[in-house]
Amino acid sequence: MSESAHPSSVPSASASAAGWRLEHSYARLPQLFHYAIAPTPVRAPRVVILNRRLAESLGLSADALAGSDGAEWFAGNRLPPGASPLAQAYAGHQYGHFTMLGDGRAILLGEQITPAGARVDIQLKGSGPTPFSRNGDGRAALGPMLREYIISEAMHALGIPTTRSLAVAATGEEVWRQDGPLPGAVLTRVAASHIRVGTFQWAAQNDEAALRALVDYTLRRHYPESAEAENPPLALLEAVIERQAALIAQWMRVGFVHGVMNTDNMALSGETIDYGPCAFIDAYDPATVFSSIDRRGRYAFGNQPAIAQWNLTRLAEALLPVLHSEEQPAIALAEATLGKFTDRFQHHWLAGMRKKLGLFTEEPEDATLIKNLLEWMHRTKADYTNTFAALAEDGPPPEDEEFIRWHQSWTERLSRQPQSAAESVQLRRASNPVFIPRNHLVEAALTAAQQGDLGPLERLLEVLTSPYDYTRTAPECRLPAPAGDTGYKTYCGT
Ligand code: AMP
Ligand code: MG
Repeated sequence: MSESAHPSSVPSASASAAGWRLEHSYARLPQLFHYAIAPTPVRAPRVVILNRRLAESLGLSADALAGSDGAEWFAGNRLPPGASPLAQAYAGHQYGHFTMLGDGRAILLGEQITPAGARVDIQLKGSGPTPFSRNGDGRAALGPMLREYIISEAMHALGIPTTRSLAVAATGEEVWRQDGPLPGAVLTRVAASHIRVGTFQWAAQNDEAALRALVDYTLRRHYPESAEAENPPLALLEAVIERQAALIAQWMRVGFVHGVMNTDNMALSGETIDYGPCAFIDAYDPATVFSSIDRRGRYAFGNQPAIAQWNLTRLAEALLPVLHSEEQPAIALAEATLGKFTDRFQHHWLAGMRKKLGLFTEEPEDATLIKNLLEWMHRTKADYTNTFAALAEDGPPPEDEEFIRWHQSWTERLSRQPQSAAESVQLRRASNPVFIPRNHLVEAALTAAQQGDLGPLERLLEVLTSPYDYTRTAPECRLPAPAGDTGYKTYCGT
């Protein structure tokens, strides 16, 4: 094979200075979990955007990555020193239907060991076909990869566990999608790991030894405090339920709609993963759906807690053979543990909503206070983010009889807590973002970027990286989409 057809891993002097420190613990799992395969080189690699701050936190030199080495690594034309590329195998329920999947367009380069001692996956997304590509081309378009970059970084700045985006590299090649040819790109994704509920479903399709190995690996990597539990698979299930309950409560706090909560898109680490047709709500409506293919609203904003529980039930099913040697006791253990999700979600959600209202103390009527506000927002189609931001800004309430009544009961409730008004404002400001990735702003930034102008995208990212900054005046970034823009659609064909 010719030199250029295969990425080489021969390190150059600048490569070793870049700070790569890759290990491969996942590759030591049984063979059925991975397939060794290299990225397919592209015609004209070029770094479109680099996350310098993230790079430095990973122990990588941003300057080294910004140069031609970075372009070659991020496009998959050359492997960083120590890389050992593989595609991960997994299964999953997509819209409720079980399928064999696997990384069809992503390749794991390895696990970077950060200066703080963390182990994070470095994955290329859009890096060419793998044995799991089925009919896909293994590629990604520039627009959706920049979109993942923007939204994942916004989620991180909002304080929500998420995979991160290190870089987007243009390939200089075209990808063909419904609407014709689009510029191609590769996203470099950083994740606590890429182990999914679907990875367990895949393991359960195979042998029990593989399943046990995956349980052990996941516990050691993400829940070391539970690794020595009496019943490790049960401890894993319980820990994942807790993290997912906390995660979904955070999504609900900021109005995030994931859009495609298939079981292969739920990470065992508790990070938000696989940004496809996701978007933030503006007018408050639990039935909000953005994905063009989610016609029945399975993944609607208000359905997310129930879907998370459905997905966790699939995880529990996969774990059944190792929860207990007999089926009935295994089912009983799974059901008892799954039964905790609703309470745990409610706990996290209520705690988050209390903070949004500036409440430090707990009163039994708080849930009703919150419900009444949400119902008013729903009826009046009020903007979710801006309604809460207005409460944090402590301005005069809107001229609406019903709202004024609600505002009075809230003010009375605030007066019953020992904390000062100023402390409450501070809590509200720390819990209610001013800046979220508004759909029309994201679209405008992506359109400009695809025409070669990265200015709007960089300005948007700058605002989104301080979402709780009430001192910043960027009124154009706070407005909901112009009237008539209510049919915002996101697409899965990314
Ligand atoms: P997603 O909707 O991004 O979670 O992807 C679902 C599955 O489809 C995963 O197994 C992906 O690897 C695969 N996939 C998505 N797009 C492509 C593509 N362009 N080529 C090959 N596989 C793909
Ligand atoms: Mg996926």
